[in-house]
Amino acid sequence: MKMLSTKLTRCNAAVLIACSAVLLFHLTKEYQFDNTLINRSYALLFFCAQMKAVYPGSFDPITNGHVDIIHRGLKIFQRIVVAVLENPKKQPLFTTKERVDMIQTVFSQKTNVEVRSFHGLLVDFARSNQANVIMRGLRAISDFEYEFQMALMNRKLDPEIETFFMTPSVDYSFLSSNLVKEVSLLGGCLKGLIPESIEKRLRQKFEQNPNITLYKG
Ligand code: ADP
Repeated sequence: MKMLSTKLTRCNAAVLIACSAVLLFHLTKEYQFDNTLINRSYALLFFCAQMKAVYPGSFDPITNGHVDIIHRGLKIFQRIVVAVLENPKKQPLFTTKERVDMIQTVFSQKTNVEVRSFHGLLVDFARSNQANVIMRGLRAISDFEYEFQMALMNRKLDPEIETFFMTPSVDYSFLSSNLVKEVSLLGGCLKGLIPESIEKRLRQKFEQNPNITLYKG
């Protein structure tokens, strides 16, 4: 009786091992050779989840359009580095430090969003932050030509870095930092278009500098 039960247990173990081997074979076979869309999508999702993206811009100031793009990006990328451009050719309303501070305030609860300033080549900044993706927002066709040129130039400079475009919610597709500044200067309501803390900072800026002129760009 005891021998029979030992035989049965061995038999069960053998069946279990055989089944596992068949399963493993199928899994590896699928992973290696089956090029279906589903498998490729899983692989892409897996690799995206490991990736860090850089989101560059002037952010003068950050709007809900930018915020929307960052939230969408966080569904795909593990970390996002918001790269605030220090461009000597542009005359921003807010200093680089103010722009960095404002974005940090908006994302203070998100540990996977870093905010840094940068100058020089974006691909160098991306490489030095171990990021292999540049994230950009596309609002309308009008954005396309410039973005297309930039993406191709960045690819020429570093073929390892990809540009990833995302469209915001339609609620923000007409929104730009320049428009927001003009509306604020003229006393218009920006509710729902920029974070409340930013609206306050804009009002303060104009109150403290009543003779300020807005530069485009
Ligand atoms: P702006 O063009 O408003 O001065 P930035 O230079 O700060 O903005 O833009 C940084 C990135 O964010 C760019 O890719 C730009 O296309 C994108 N972006 C700006 N505003 C919006 C918006 N309302 N919705 C989606 N993307 C946006």
